[in-house]
Amino acid sequence: MAEVTLDALEKRFDDVVAVDGISLDIPDESFTVFVGPSGCGKTTTLRLIAGLERATDGEIYIGDRMVNDHRAYERDIAMVFQNYALYPHKTVGENMRFGLEQHGVDDDIIEERVDDAADLLQIDELLDRRPAELSGGQQQRVALGRAIVREPDVFLMDEPLSNLDAKLRVQMRAELNKLHEQLSTTTVYVTHDQIEAMTLADQIAVMNDGEIQQVGDPTYVYAHPRNRFVADFLGSPSMNFVEGKLTRRDDSLVVDVGPFQHEVPESYRDALDGRVGDRIVVGVRPENVTLRPDGLPALVEVVEPQGEKTVLELDLGDDITIKASVEPSVPVELNDRVNVEFDRRSLHYFDADTGESLT
Ligand code: ATP
Repeated sequence: MAEVTLDALEKRFDDVVAVDGISLDIPDESFTVFVGPSGCGKTTTLRLIAGLERATDGEIYIGDRMVNDHRAYERDIAMVFQNYALYPHKTVGENMRFGLEQHGVDDDIIEERVDDAADLLQIDELLDRRPAELSGGQQQRVALGRAIVREPDVFLMDEPLSNLDAKLRVQMRAELNKLHEQLSTTTVYVTHDQIEAMTLADQIAVMNDGEIQQVGDPTYVYAHPRNRFVADFLGSPSMNFVEGKLTRRDDSLVVDVGPFQHEVPESYRDALDGRVGDRIVVGVRPENVTLRPDGLPALVEVVEPQGEKTVLELDLGDDITIKASVEPSVPVELNDRVNVEFDRRSLHYFDADTGESLT
C-alpha cells in the first residue's frame, strides 16, 4: 500500500501544456478520481504516475520513493485500460498469470493469487476461455483480475468502464466500489463521466486545461464548488447561471438580472456586502428550483420526463432560460405559465469576470 504525491507536476508535448504544474496528495487506500472534459490532461497525469510518460518538470512520489526516474515495471503499480489490453491468443488464466510469470513469481503463489482473484471477480468459470469468447463486461473483469493478482501498491485505471453499455457500467461501478472496500488498494481513476466520479471517489480532483480546479470529498465539492467551471461540470442537468448587477435596496442586497430582481438571502449577505455595484452570477442547481405560487413567473418551454424526475426548461423573460428538476408527479405541460423559486439555502454566487465563488 502507498500514498502517491504529485509535486508541481508538469508535462509538455512541444508547445502543448498537457499538465500544468499540479500538486496533489493521493492518500494511502484512497479512491481518487480525476475528472474533467476531454483534453484536460487526465490521461497524461495517469500515464506520468504509471511511468508511461516522462515529466517535463515536478516530482512524483509513490510512498516515500521519488519515482520520476523509475521505469514503469519498477513502480509497483498495475494499470487497467479502457480497451482492456488483453492478449488475444492467451486464455483468461494465462492473461492473469503472465505478468507474474514475467516477474519470476513462484508457480504455487501464482496459482493461489489467480484463484483468489477469479473467485473475487466471479470469473472462475472463464479461466480457459480466450478474450474473444467473452462479453465486454467479462473482459473488463479479466483486466481487473490481471491487475489484482499483481498485488500492486497502486491501481491506475483509465476510463475502464467506458466501453460497456450503460447498464453494465452501473453494475461494474458498484463492483469496483465493493472491490475497493475489500482490497483497500490506493486507486487513481480517470474518467470524463461526472456521475462515475461522484459515485466512486472518496477524493475527486476536477481538472481543466491541465490544472486541478478543486480537490476534495465529492459531496463537498458538489455543494461548495470553488468556481463556475466546477459548478458547471458537476451535476446533471448542469447548474443554472444568471448574471446581474449587485445593488443595495434598503437593508437587503438585490441582484438586478433584468426581467427580475433576485434578493440575496440573509445568510449570504455578509459574503457579498463588499461587492455592491459589481456584476455577479447567481448559480442554482435544477433540483433547487421549485414551483411556488409566489415565485417568479416563467413559461414552460420544454418538458422532459426522465423517469425518476422531470426536467423543465423555463423562460424567465429576456431570453433567460433555466432548468428545473421536479418530481414526475408534478402536473406541468408545455406552454404552462408557472411560478418558480430558488431554494434559499442552496444558492451560489460567482464573480462575473473571474468565475471565482464569492461565498
Ligand atoms: P480524454 O478524456 O479525451 O482522454 P484527457 O483529459 O485524458 O482527454 P490528455 O489525453 O491527457 O487529456 O491530453 C491533454 C492534452 O495533451 C491534449 O491537448 C492532448 O491533445 C495533448 N496530448 C496528449 N498526448 C499527447 C502526445 N503524445 N503528443 C502531443 N500531444 C498530446
